[in-house]
Amino acid sequence: MRHFLSVNQLRVEEIYSILETAEDYRNKPVNLNKQLFAANLFFEPSTRTKMSFIVAQRKLGLEILDFHSESSSVLKGESLYDTARTFESIGSNLLIVRHHSDSWFEELDDRISIPVINAGAGKEEHPTQCMLDLLTIYQEFGTIEGLKVVIVGDIKHSRVARSNAFALRKLGADVHLCAAPGFEDDELDFPYISIDEAVEICDVVILLRIQHERHLHKAETSDYLQLYGLTKERERKMKNQAIILHPAPINRGVEIDTDLVECGRSRIFKQMENGVFVRMAIMMTVLNEWGIINNENNFKACKTLAAN
Ligand code: ASP
Repeated sequence: MRHFLSVNQLRVEEIYSILETAEDYRNKPVNLNKQLFAANLFFEPSTRTKMSFIVAQRKLGLEILDFHSESSSVLKGESLYDTARTFESIGSNLLIVRHHSDSWFEELDDRISIPVINAGAGKEEHPTQCMLDLLTIYQEFGTIEGLKVVIVGDIKHSRVARSNAFALRKLGADVHLCAAPGFEDDELDFPYISIDEAVEICDVVILLRIQHERHLHKAETSDYLQLYGLTKERERKMKNQAIILHPAPINRGVEIDTDLVECGRSRIFKQMENGVFVRMAIMMTVLNEWGIINNENNFKACKTLAAN
């Protein structure tokens, strides 16, 4: 399997190799100087992921096939598989897919002969967000091993929580979860702590949005900030060097006090900036892995995807 579907498929050294490649791209422009097409198949809303993929693709010199499911043959009942095969047939060299199904990639996997990158799978996986979060943490502390990290919020419905919890543990972080009643996920085998304990002991506080679109009934949020969110009072209790992450979009005043969104500890907009370079590195890695480019001098992350 050589698609980029989950950070779980990567070995530790492969993860770091992609992070280093992303750092290189920040300072060293890279352009493939070859006509290659990338199709962005987003079946769910997206601002940051889609736009940073587009910026990353333009920086690499890729031609972009921009797809809008609401004006496509999906409305005539076309499946994800037939849509993906169509893009493969017309000459796309790379597919970026976001879909509301938790396991959409099972429909494609070994039936598609061009690389596929997971840009979000239901509430299950968001590996490119995870990689940019890892880069942001790594930049800050120079390591991930031994850091205390807490993921706070709607754990049950968040693909970011799942991807990050497993990847951070793999890299040696001490991962905790924190959730309001009903937002816990018993399938995730990580210790739960309260928000008040979390802010005092953790180096990294990753906040999550309440995933209203994945709930049957809209959650009541009027006292959420005070009971479970990052208030200014809690922020003052954080360790000196501790940082705040959030994958965004942010519900200001719900999971975080609006004044903290751009406070000194916040790396929220840094995460977005890092997303461009991480996505460049991931695309280059899969294109190289598939032999679509042979660009070993331009980047370090060659042959990094596990062949499992
Ligand atoms: N943008 C992230 C995602 O697509 C987080 C969120 O939507 O809350 O999962």
